[in-house]
Amino acid sequence: MAKLDGKVAVITGASSGIGEATAEALAAEGAAVIVAARREERLAGLVERIEGGGGRVLAAVCDVTDESQAHGLIQKAVDEFGRIDILVNNAGVMLLSNVGKGLSDEWRRMFDVNVMGLLYTTDAAIEAMKRRGGGHLVNISSVAGRKVTRDSSGVYAGSKHAVVAISEGLRQELLEDNIRVTVIEPGAVETELATHITDEDARESLGGLLHLEILQAEDIANAVTYAVTQPERVSVNEILIRPTQQPV
Ligand code: NDP
Repeated sequence: MAKLDGKVAVITGASSGIGEATAEALAAEGAAVIVAARREERLAGLVERIEGGGGRVLAAVCDVTDESQAHGLIQKAVDEFGRIDILVNNAGVMLLSNVGKGLSDEWRRMFDVNVMGLLYTTDAAIEAMKRRGGGHLVNISSVAGRKVTRDSSGVYAGSKHAVVAISEGLRQELLEDNIRVTVIEPGAVETELATHITDEDARESLGGLLHLEILQAEDIANAVTYAVTQPERVSVNEILIRPTQQPV
């Protein structure tokens, strides 16, 4: 029997990178997965692969910055699969730049997706998890959620520090409800994340990491799988993972 047989997991930002790898990993452990993001065609490819491997999966087109869509996502899990055991709040954007360049639309987007989106889905999931008597929230923060550096990441780091703080608050608020909370803090991972950066200086300073062997999305999916497959008495609260050669 696989470790997550009978469990239902919702993964946001599952159309690429860490979310996609996590959906495949949890499905391989037996979970029924709801894969959510805005890009429907990318979700369709993932659904095909998971179903091809014998997994149970549903796609949900969802912009997590829209509160009603975020709530609808959790409702879909309950309606279609009867419950929600695991919510992986992975959807995120990293639009690096220094403050002082008037890129307030990008700061707003980072806080809307990375923080408010996480809160909307979590808010809805808590209610469903309490009804069932427990659950597991996994929030994807970043090394930038623990460390601030000079490489144009102050606002992004602010959003990811918020994820760490909110996760610890949730852990304390929900421990009597048998809802576990894990925050995962990856260093550099090879995904599409950096391709959305518009600021040239930020792109250049990130380039400094490119000579390193950085992490693969599967490395983070393995950490999520580890956290959610522990016995119920074990609450893995925090995992920080860097590429071996990443200095900060
Ligand atoms: P990707 O860009 O590959 O994936 C980001 C995912 O978020 C996509 O599936 C995207 O889907 C989704 N997303 C973005 N905006 C929204 C939205 N408004 N509503 C719903 N989904 C949205 O990057 P990663 O896999 O690297 O990023 C995943 C998480 O990991 C992020 O939270 C990121 O901050 C974090 N992280 C990544 C690191 C890295 O080096 N790659 C390091 C540390 C943390 P779509 O566009 O289809 O909606």
